[in-house]
Amino acid sequence: MMIDNNCGYCVGGEPLAKFGIKICDLEVSQLILFKEQSHPGRCIVAYKDHISEIVDISDEERNAFFADVNRASKAIHKAFNPDKVNYGAYGDTGCHLHMHLVPKYKDEYEWGGVFEMNPGKTFLTDDEYQEMIEKIKANL
Ligand SMILES: [Zn+2]
Repeated sequence: MMIDNNCGYCVGGEPLAKFGIKICDLEVSQLILFKEQSHPGRCIVAYKDHISEIVDISDEERNAFFADVNRASKAIHKAFNPDKVNYGAYGDTGCHLHMHLVPKYKDEYEWGGVFEMNPGKTFLTDDEYQEMIEKIKANL
């Protein structure tokens, strides 16, 4: 397994805690709750290995990764009932394959537009994060 010791997805701990809370492992990835919750239910699905490009994994691994993204998205739909889930895979500076799953709600924040990477506006209490995590887990 390829690991980068400065990467939150690889090492967890403090680097991850800056922006996310691990919910659980999926088949070839981990599901992470994004701490910034301007879009209720926003999560990240991060691939198990520290690879940058989706073209650098096998068809089998890629299909499994998208199955994980689908599973996470289904749970978000069931738990939070968004009108749309937006998907974003960037990582110009953090080169670990991951996808943002961003629930969007009609006539609410950024509806009809591109989601901001980290608006830095809405953070929850530990109890509220835990409640959200349980809600997602219950629907996986
Ligand atoms: Zn990594």
